[in-house]
Amino acid sequence: MPDATFAALPTTIFEEMSGLARAHGAINLGQGFPDDPGPEALRRKAAEAVLDGYNQYPPMAGLPELRAAVAAHYHRTQGLTFDPTTEVVVTSGATEALAAAFLALIEPGDEVIVFQPLYDAYLPLIRRAGGIPKLISLSPPHWRFTGAMIEAAITPKTRFLVLNTPVNPTGAVVPDEDLSLLAEICVAHDLIAICDEVWEQVVFSPAVHRPLLTYPGMAGRCVKIGSAGKMFGLTGWKVGFICAAAPLARLLAKAHQFLTFTTPPNLQVAVAFGLETLDDWWTTMPVSLAASQQRLASTLEAEGFSVLPSQGTYFINVDLAASGVTMADRDFALLAVREAGVATIPVSALYETDPVTTILRLCFAKSDATLDEGARRLAKARDLASQTLAGRSI
Ligand code: PMP
Ligand code: GLN
Repeated sequence: MPDATFAALPTTIFEEMSGLARAHGAINLGQGFPDDPGPEALRRKAAEAVLDGYNQYPPMAGLPELRAAVAAHYHRTQGLTFDPTTEVVVTSGATEALAAAFLALIEPGDEVIVFQPLYDAYLPLIRRAGGIPKLISLSPPHWRFTGAMIEAAITPKTRFLVLNTPVNPTGAVVPDEDLSLLAEICVAHDLIAICDEVWEQVVFSPAVHRPLLTYPGMAGRCVKIGSAGKMFGLTGWKVGFICAAAPLARLLAKAHQFLTFTTPPNLQVAVAFGLETLDDWWTTMPVSLAASQQRLASTLEAEGFSVLPSQGTYFINVDLAASGVTMADRDFALLAVREAGVATIPVSALYETDPVTTILRLCFAKSDATLDEGARRLAKARDLASQTLAGRSI
């Protein structure tokens, strides 16, 4: 039984790799954040909101104008209908939304189905809430699950399933047939789905994001979590949203009120403004990111790396084993940041058990020059790795 206390936990791989990137002056293709400063109109709106007086506690569940803008946005973009007054809660990032969902809903001993590789906040939060994670391991290159894998993990104590799509770190967008299967399983076993959809707008055509909440029987049993940080490429803003049927949203708001209580009102004003006015953004942003993804993928391929398909998020993955790197991903990532000047994320860090150790995640939300140099440095790291291994074998 893993230790549920925070003292037993390592520092997150994102912080570790960004720290090493700073220490070594490396290009940071690790932690997922764009190097573009983000939409100027939104940043101006936030600055004006600070200067013009939105600086005191806003309502606990969020500013009414932001809750209305979130509901309208999801209606426009995903055909969903939420009542902004009872079904939308604003949180301090998706991370707080996840914490609120786990703390509000999990009773000690409840089992929670989770897929790995996973976003690293899930397991500590589930365990601190008294839950028991039941891990399902997915493998490259397609990272698909089957009904049998999920059924095998379900027991009479299973009450929740956590679904992240589009998926960090794999870049997969869970396809329609897999979502139908999950919905059937949730209904058959009376499970609540915690749906981490922070990457919902960062999806590359022809892939399409579909919320699990739209599948038969799911509307009352889904907690849909979004993040303005990901929507607008302003990852430090930490403005998140919970959308759920009123009884669930009411419970989650009770957890939120004792976590952060509110979220900075000036940023809420700016996010509402962005959702209401940046109409072009939802098409231009993914097109521009898809071009960056292509650029990094083709530059890496030209350097002899094998790149896995990615349909969304800021991330592509390199198959190290198929790229002539025999070192395990973490060792290679440490060598790359220290000796070749490029930070990445070893995907094994996002497994708790039986890690896949041959995959490296790279963030492509960067300028072309940074991506080109990053790929060159990764090739240098591969040369250094083979020299290191050759040296050792003598
Ligand atoms: N879930 C996933 C899958 C993520 O990738 C992230 C951030 N990268 C979060 C949650 C947290 O989002 P936020 O920064 O809004 O807390
Ligand atoms: N979600 C971001 C990523 O995957 C990192 C978030 C964090 O640093 N906690 O890179």
